[in-house]
Amino acid sequence: KGPNGKYTVTLIPGDGIGPEISESVKAIYTAAKVPIQWEEVSVTPILKDGKTVIPDDAIASVKKNTVALKGPLATPIGKGHVSLNLTLRRTFNLFANVRPCASIKGFKTPYDDVNTVLIRENTEGEYSGIEHEVVDGVVQSIKLITWEASERVARYAFNYAKDNGRDRVTAVHKANIMKMSDGLFLSACRQVSKDFPDIRYDEDLLDRVCLKVTTDPRPYNDRVMVMPNLYGDILSDMCAGLIGGLGLTPSGNIGKDASIFEAVHGSAPDIAGKGLANPTALLLSSMMMLRHMNLYDYAAKIENAALTTIAEGKAITGDLGGKASTKEYTDAIIKKLA
Ligand code: NAD
Repeated sequence: KGPNGKYTVTLIPGDGIGPEISESVKAIYTAAKVPIQWEEVSVTPILKDGKTVIPDDAIASVKKNTVALKGPLATPIGKGHVSLNLTLRRTFNLFANVRPCASIKGFKTPYDDVNTVLIRENTEGEYSGIEHEVVDGVVQSIKLITWEASERVARYAFNYAKDNGRDRVTAVHKANIMKMSDGLFLSACRQVSKDFPDIRYDEDLLDRVCLKVTTDPRPYNDRVMVMPNLYGDILSDMCAGLIGGLGLTPSGNIGKDASIFEAVHGSAPDIAGKGLANPTALLLSSMMMLRHMNLYDYAAKIENAALTTIAEGKAITGDLGGKASTKEYTDAIIKKLA
């Protein structure tokens, strides 16, 4: 907190619709008088010693402020660039990805009462990036699981459950097949569970969980699911589908050195610059950020204004079936704050 009583937070507007949805969040924060001042930085890669890297001042800003809100980044596919999101994850040791998916009133989907929380190990597993060719036509990709990373994400999951009124943690795995790697992940979860006697702990197979969540998501409303990287990547998008897709889903990357909150969707190049983007996912991500910073009252106030605006359905964006522009939707939320 600075001398003016405000917290400084790094803002990475990102690519495509990123700047438009960031403007919307900034306007809503100003109207709600949230005690935050934004430090805006660009993470557009620059060339340094022949490598594409994130500019130093962007890294320095996140390091200093330890909290950042990030818009989507366009990742060029297969051009030899390492994904910027991956770079941020590695630079700041963002070890846990938290993805809550809660049904949004007024936006009709096959289920009305989804409220899942999924915590994904964010640094290793199949995404360690260790791949090589054995002989022509044969490649190996190594799935790396360590006790340290498993224990760290498990502990975060139990603490999250405790802090958010959920009384159960389910570890999701395939240890029936990957006996050693997923087996180690489960051992770490079991060990951590002993430190949380008030929270029930159980384990379930990934495929079974997919079947059960899509059959009836309600039993998952009181618990936190924790799992290795790849499973979390896939299962979290599946849960997002249950509430109406990526445009509404927030996420937080919790790290040792900083935490970065971001919408789950991409830069939406098809609608960028047209004033049509839905800022809800970024706004809800920023609510996770406010709660992470213990600014609960501001989070509740803004969230309520946004969700009521959607429930009324008068000023909603095209992706939700409405006709409003980003600005009209933003203004409707701001009016509710007054
Ligand atoms: P996308 O999420 O950008 O778009 C998929 C579809 O959803 C598009 O039709 C888009 O218009 C729509 N959409 C997404 N967000 C919306 C919003 N807020 N409001 C209204 N409509 C929305 O996925 P994509 O097209 O596969 O990816 C585009 C780029 O984004 C790629 O370069 C990809 O690498 C990148 N990406 C970045 C992140 C990230 O930074 N976290 C995540 C996913 C994709």
